[in-house]
Amino acid sequence: MSLLKKTATEQAQALAAKQISATELVQEHYAQIKAVDNEVKAFLYLDEKNALAQAATIDKKRAAGEKLSPLAGIPLALKDVMAQANVPTTCGSKILEGWRPPYDATLVTKLKANDVVILGKTNMDEFAMGSSTENSAFGPTHNPWDLTRIPGGSSGGSAAAVAAFEAPISIGTDTGGSIRQPAAVCGIVGVKPTYGSVSRYGLIAFSSSLDQAGPFARTVEDAAMVHAAIAGFDPKDSTSINSPVPDFVSAARKKDVKGLKIGVVKELSGDGYQTGVAEKFSQTLDLLVSLGAQIVEVSCPNFQYALAAYYLVAPSECSSNLARFDAMRYGLRVGDDGQRSAEEVMNLTRQAGFGREVKRRIILGTYALSSGYYDAYYGSAQKVRTLIKQDFDNAFKSADVLVSPTAPTTAFKIGEKANDPLAMYLNDIATIPVNMAGICGLSLPNGLASEDQLPSGFQIMAPAMADDRLYLVGGAIEAALKDKWGKPFWEFAPKLKGSKC
Ligand code: GLN
Repeated sequence: MSLLKKTATEQAQALAAKQISATELVQEHYAQIKAVDNEVKAFLYLDEKNALAQAATIDKKRAAGEKLSPLAGIPLALKDVMAQANVPTTCGSKILEGWRPPYDATLVTKLKANDVVILGKTNMDEFAMGSSTENSAFGPTHNPWDLTRIPGGSSGGSAAAVAAFEAPISIGTDTGGSIRQPAAVCGIVGVKPTYGSVSRYGLIAFSSSLDQAGPFARTVEDAAMVHAAIAGFDPKDSTSINSPVPDFVSAARKKDVKGLKIGVVKELSGDGYQTGVAEKFSQTLDLLVSLGAQIVEVSCPNFQYALAAYYLVAPSECSSNLARFDAMRYGLRVGDDGQRSAEEVMNLTRQAGFGREVKRRIILGTYALSSGYYDAYYGSAQKVRTLIKQDFDNAFKSADVLVSPTAPTTAFKIGEKANDPLAMYLNDIATIPVNMAGICGLSLPNGLASEDQLPSGFQIMAPAMADDRLYLVGGAIEAALKDKWGKPFWEFAPKLKGSKC
């Protein structure tokens, strides 16, 4: 029987019970990738030979009776923003063409230590700038629920891979919503951990004070398992938090929200959401009440400035971070004919290697950081960040977690917003405050929007280092919804042509 539609937890049980080998499980996922990825286009690179060699080693260890991690042998898809030794790493950009990192990101080291099998690298908006994966230099990824639509972004490839049963779990990064928004529009679970709680070492920087890697999965418990494997202090990351990691998996299994206070953020609900998304949001609040939680309304007045401040902070940091792609050190080099100056080669390379959105942000950021404007733009944006954090601190005085819809709409059509950067930026209206304050957030599917029958997402937000609360509340909602529907959410997804499950 195919295990493709099983959760990572169930796949791990089948492996432990020796009903299937890691080699067979990995082969089954590659067969699915080969069957559907010509249309979904979630992957940029498949590492099949190494993955199968690793699976064979895990099978040997298991046969020898070695004690293995709960994730041993589980296949995973990795966003191409993470450095993986000797594997092409592009960040969705032409500028890194041909680059194979000489080292593993800490997150990759941890996954390998848990014997997770990395199937390959997934497509993304170039340097993680975008909300639709249309900014990838290698073409867009398609949403498995409707191939004419976007899978969200910037981690669209990782989200689509899980939604299309090409992998049970994957890794994304979230600077302003890039895990939660693709999770929402692809109908899966995505978690943006507390800033500094998962190492950024080897995560190619977009906006260093906001970037955070985290898991995608089809269930809350699976996401908790991956999160547990990648979290923890890392001396190689100067912003890493050195404090105990909460027990995410136990929280996910508890499924009890009685007496919890759930804060609805006034500024993140109401107008501006697609009708079906707003309907699902209020139905999920009713569900929480039926489970014994208490709903309170909170106000975060400074959230209205979050998007504007984000679009100063993120481009500013990107203009500085992307200065290292200068044709001298990594990847592409254009026009080096022995006659041109180094500066000319740099210019030609950056012109050819970066896409439009990346250039737009470098220019915006360079302007915002220039002397004479620094205080007015970057300085003010940083002050807004403090105010947003204060809003969260106040709100968490009266609520254990805060909630909102994850994204204003369901998946839109490929091309629909491609030439309208402002419309694209507005996708992250509900996710950006979490990054600006460095706290954590989770998105889980809460149904199909009435008008288009596409997945809608429910966002849960918790204070820094209280990521276990995301799993506690997410796990309870997921279980109640499954009872109500009589089946897990992914059973509503249409079958892709050629799919093995
Ligand atoms: N869509 C947002 C942006 O374009 C967020 C991206 C992200 O989280 N990496 O910046």
